Amino acid sequence: MLAAGSKVACHTFVFEKTGPIRVGSAAARIARAHAAARDLGVNIHPRHLADPSSPKQLHRAAYDAYLRLKAAAEADGIPPNLLVIVSGYRSIRSQQSLWENALNRYRDPNIARRWVAPPGGSPHHTGRAIDFSLGTRNDSSNIPALRSTVAYKWLVCNAERFGFTPYRNEPWHWEFNPPGFPTSTGPSVPAAPPRPTPIPSRSPAHLPVYAPPARRQEPSSSPAEIPIVGLPGFSPPEEKALRITTMFETGRPLNFGGLTGNFDNQGLSFGLLQWNIGTGSLQPLLREFATRFPGKVQAIFGPDAPRFFDILQPHRSLPEQMQFARSINDASQRNVVEPWRTYFARLAADPDFRQIQLRHVRWLMDVAKTFARRLGLRSERGLALMLDNVTQNGAGWLKPNRAALIQQRKAEQERQTGRPLTERQFLAVIANVVADTVNPRWSEDVRRRRMMIVNGTGVVHETPMDLARQFGLTDQPWETIPGVPSWSAPAPGTMQYPRPLSATRLRAP
Ligand SMILES: [Zn+2]
Repeated sequence: MLAAGSKVACHTFVFEKTGPIRVGSAAARIARAHAAARDLGVNIHPRHLADPSSPKQLHRAAYDAYLRLKAAAEADGIPPNLLVIVSGYRSIRSQQSLWENALNRYRDPNIARRWVAPPGGSPHHTGRAIDFSLGTRNDSSNIPALRSTVAYKWLVCNAERFGFTPYRNEPWHWEFNPPGFPTSTGPSVPAAPPRPTPIPSRSPAHLPVYAPPARRQEPSSSPAEIPIVGLPGFSPPEEKALRITTMFETGRPLNFGGLTGNFDNQGLSFGLLQWNIGTGSLQPLLREFATRFPGKVQAIFGPDAPRFFDILQPHRSLPEQMQFARSINDASQRNVVEPWRTYFARLAADPDFRQIQLRHVRWLMDVAKTFARRLGLRSERGLALMLDNVTQNGAGWLKPNRAALIQQRKAEQERQTGRPLTERQFLAVIANVVADTVNPRWSEDVRRRRMMIVNGTGVVHETPMDLARQFGLTDQPWETIPGVPSWSAPAPGTMQYPRPLSATRLRAP
């Protein structure tokens, strides 16, 4: 049985803070890491093995982290017979026989590759990958059951703290790759000092601070590259939309801890969708947290907790709140200063605050879906565009003037071409209307960001992106409606728009 208050109740996922071991797992690098694992390998105590009769090894650093993780799991009520190790370090020779079995089973190397890496290409060669026992069969045919185990949910909520990152295809497979761990040369070189948290180069309108693409990749570029991890409570098209917009907002997909200063005159912005003080969108999340978890507020914000949460109360005026927010920015008003950065980092790591964030995302996603339905958008690309609109321009983004302009341009184009717009063409119309109707100062940034979704590719901050490859974004329907053709543009004059809700406006443009 689980202890009361167990962290398993968390429904958030652990997201890669650093690239997992698969990153750039070129054969030579794997081989170096392989050699290092041989040097630094330690024997796993039989008590921690799923099959105590078959000795296994791990890289020393991974084993140390595993021991801490295991103790924490047991303290949280995970039974000792779970989260034991099924597989750790593998020699290239042992991988050879696994690979041959997989080839026999799947008959197609490209499919086999999703489940077993070819010899020389497995993260297990590094000694830093662990296959855990979750209490049910570790098998590709058993994924839903594995994902529903208590042990898996515990890992999802907690493994990141111990330096482990998940692998989408295999709930049982986790890799030890904490920030600062040398990735390319393997563990044989002295550990590099932890990389400083990059200070994102700010751009107006929260244009993406671009971080390298999600680096979790199969050794080959199979379709399995699509980094859908199964965010609880979100469909795959919703998750793709959220990953894209959160990357635009925070520089990293699903970055719960995005923190930016007052560069856009919103005081400070925090979290997945950069809720902020200036538009009043952040205060409700913080107040909810304080009401439900008063003890945590004390632990996270320390001596500053009383003053901070007093200023967040609804009876305080916005100018007062903004003045406070500015006071915890540095002189450039671009960066939040210490100890507040630390406070917000703690808050971002808290499972209960992550849940609060996700609930607010859920609400915004539903608003986005409402717009997609009203505009007749069927593709997941269309849903992604709607989420980006409501995130950056608020739940009231489709104001009457915009709705009229969209209809007008659509009709114009259809007259010119003599045929109805495709959905993508219609999305381009919407994207350009939004860009043309925001503050001219943000206009081109907004256009670049929205057109990136429409086209699927683009360059942001000099970094080329490919949403199909990085996020699996397609033109497939985001919901199935029996009997409805895949794309039917709304007839002129029938397009509906909801009343503007200025209170829910989130961002400046
Ligand atoms: Zn594995």
